[in-house]
Amino acid sequence: MLETLLLRKGVVRAACAAFLITAACAAPGFGAALPAPGTTPTAASATHPLHDGLRMFFIDVEGGQATLFVTPAGRSLLIDTGWPGNAGRDADRIVSAAQAAGLTRIDAVLITHYHTDHVGGVPQLAARFPIGMFLDHGPDREFNDPATVAGWNAYQKLLSSGKYGHRIMRPGELLPGWNAPGAPRATVLSADGVLIGNPLPGAGATNPFCGAADGKRPADVPANDTTENARSLGILIEWGKLRILDLGDLTWDKERPLVCPVNKVGKVDLLIVSHHGFEQSSSPALVDAVAPRVAIMDNGARKGGSPRVLGVVAGAPSKPALWQLHFSQEGGPAHNTEPAHIANLHDGEGDAANRIEATATADGTITVKKTGTADAATVYRPSPLAAQPR
Ligand SMILES: [Zn+2]
Repeated sequence: MLETLLLRKGVVRAACAAFLITAACAAPGFGAALPAPGTTPTAASATHPLHDGLRMFFIDVEGGQATLFVTPAGRSLLIDTGWPGNAGRDADRIVSAAQAAGLTRIDAVLITHYHTDHVGGVPQLAARFPIGMFLDHGPDREFNDPATVAGWNAYQKLLSSGKYGHRIMRPGELLPGWNAPGAPRATVLSADGVLIGNPLPGAGATNPFCGAADGKRPADVPANDTTENARSLGILIEWGKLRILDLGDLTWDKERPLVCPVNKVGKVDLLIVSHHGFEQSSSPALVDAVAPRVAIMDNGARKGGSPRVLGVVAGAPSKPALWQLHFSQEGGPAHNTEPAHIANLHDGEGDAANRIEATATADGTITVKKTGTADAATVYRPSPLAAQPR
């Protein structure tokens, strides 16, 4: 298995090399000087200034989710708020990222579902930073988990203050403010256990990865997940040729009807690996079919990053470059991605809470770097194959 994975990683590197440039635009100028296609990246080739890209901040909340998007027009969207407690640790990290993005307010906070690693940080964040509105999938559906109920109640208390906008989202709807012509748009694919009914425009091809080999559900994965995970509010962001998929913690049983027997989503450029890389999500039928070029996993050192999912991503036919927020202790050296693509290599006192930051442009170019290092950013250019039908 080790040899197989190492071989796969070697193939990944070789395959990516044709469309990958290690940029000379390292910090502090990251994103400020993306070169035009076909040119050698230099600090002087400022053809794509930072504000021309869709910026993404993958914030380390130790195995929860907190992902900040900022459009070229400055509209901000935070997906989830990390954990409660810890003296506001996760809220402080989100505020740090928002300030790094130059924000004075987060326009919308999207709560994928009501598990405590997603909704838990809401009160602490709201106490620290202005928020415009909240988006969610509607009422909590998991009543037998005290932490989930506590998170839901605290969220409802905040909403009842009347200080914030609030909208329940349904599959097929566009997120408020993410629908302007020529700007990034965000479409809801899943909410409260309901999925889009029809394929997205350009999608709908038969998925060859739904067969017995790829589609066989592991014994430890529920056939019908009854937790809030399966209720996750999942979205697809589209901007020109660029497509970014975030399904929260959506589980196998909901992934399958989304991509089998036909792939209703189509292919994506960037996959935010579902559920922190836990093996209850990321069926090969999904990961293989959406065929990401870049995958980013918001795992903690000891939460998520399951060997099986690390293997699914590494073995996907699209050979995505995988970045992780943490070295997964469960994954170990045999399964984690290469150290240069891991924001936090150490557990415990050595955990620096580094972020992964990315900038993407409408032509499908994605630039990724991790904070806390002088490592150069890496630029992933779209393959000519990306012009093929979804
Ligand atoms: Zn989670």
